[in-house]
Amino acid sequence: MEVCPFCNGLASTPYTCPQCVEVLQDCGKTVDYLDNYSPYLDQQILQEVDGLPHAESNTYCVHIFYCPACRIEYEMKIHVI
Ligand SMILES: [Zn+2]
Ligand SMILES: [Zn+2]
Repeated sequence: MEVCPFCNGLASTPYTCPQCVEVLQDCGKTVDYLDNYSPYLDQQILQEVDGLPHAESNTYCVHIFYCPACRIEYEMKIHVI
């Protein structure tokens, strides 16, 4: 089974902000993030909220990254390994 390096603490290279090169904070998966606000959504709906078709949901893990310097959130598709 594929695992996301960011979900499992395996990522060796942190993402940096494209604007200021600050190291971005991983705020977690988009799905978990949204889950805080919508705990009753089922998996099917969450995958659609993810913005990814079902096939891509098995290939990518979408994370929210936050730059503390720019105060901007970035959505990144992480390729699972
Ligand atoms: Zn992940
Ligand atoms: Zn920045």
